[in-house]
Amino acid sequence: MKERETHRLIQEAIPFLLQWYDYNRRILPWREEPTPYRVWVSEIMLQQTRVEAVRGYYDRFLSRLPGIRELAQVPEEELLKLWEGLGYYNRVRNMQKAAKLIVEQYGGEMPSDYRKIRELPGIGDYTAGAISSIAFGLPYPAIDGNVLRVMSRITCDTSDISKEATKKYWRETLLELMPERCGDFNQSLMELGAMVCLPNGKPLCEQCPVMQLCRAFQEDKELTLPVKAEKKERRIEKRNVYIFRQNGKELLHRRPKKGLLAGLWEYPNCLISAENLPEEFLPGGSKRIIKREMKKAKHIFSHVEWHMDGYFIEAEPLNQREEEQIIQEMMRLTETESNREDWVFANKEERTQEYPIPAAFEKFKRKGETE
Ligand code: SF4
Repeated sequence: MKERETHRLIQEAIPFLLQWYDYNRRILPWREEPTPYRVWVSEIMLQQTRVEAVRGYYDRFLSRLPGIRELAQVPEEELLKLWEGLGYYNRVRNMQKAAKLIVEQYGGEMPSDYRKIRELPGIGDYTAGAISSIAFGLPYPAIDGNVLRVMSRITCDTSDISKEATKKYWRETLLELMPERCGDFNQSLMELGAMVCLPNGKPLCEQCPVMQLCRAFQEDKELTLPVKAEKKERRIEKRNVYIFRQNGKELLHRRPKKGLLAGLWEYPNCLISAENLPEEFLPGGSKRIIKREMKKAKHIFSHVEWHMDGYFIEAEPLNQREEEQIIQEMMRLTETESNREDWVFANKEERTQEYPIPAAFEKFKRKGETE
């Protein structure tokens, strides 16, 4: 009975949603020319950043890498540099793996087959559904948090949307109900969730095209839905970050190949406070040094939060031997298990062009530039 009612509600909602989408959708670069590649890039970027913030990254990425072949060939360090600020770097690494596979196996063209798209590295049910429906007109749903919220509210469904079983239920249900304009339907749900049926607070029901159908609205439950289990609390790590500058160059360290922010460049950081920087930290103690505390910064990852104190350290220009001494000292201080080639003094141009520094250090990076 419940299932029949759910089907009926969604079927009734579809024409209202499509019509609303036609008149209210935002004009976005990837929507105007929805090639598989453009949809793919935008969907991966949108998984981690708001639409408005994605625009700039998207244009820059597309102008440097206009197609799958270019993505397959670009050197990894340059790729990561293009992704700088977006976070979740493994996603773009996976995109490159997938692009290489597409070049090898499909002649550089995204296959127009849901299953083949879904098998590509880094492409899950959601992205496969989005590419299939928006770029190829194939009737597959694309279920993300927005869609789950809208569905739970329209049908007053109290299943926990963080559970895989709930996602599966909605995937299967919507798969049966996909209208001919499947790409627009998927996008209408995403758009409604982003613009009207908002999370964290009161949705804008009076502007909603399905208000007259919505069960949550009728039963005054829009604020209690969707049901979502509390996330586990994040672990907090306290770190001290050092911007060490001399002769216009700053010391950078490449993170390990595995784990959080794998292979990216960072400002050296550790758990030892700057007050305890040993005197011998300076080569021979002979160089003048300025050490200033910077503003604190916080960066939130999915399972961990970094609470960071920053220290700006400027020394008189060092010769090569003294640079080496500093690097050895920093290796010891930060207790990293890295090799010498994972450390570099980089000038501003190199930092901008060559070394991808993740957004976690953005505050210190900007501050360092104005010191
Ligand atoms: S009526 Fe309100 S709760 Fe229901 S779908 Fe529309 S915005 Fe969401």
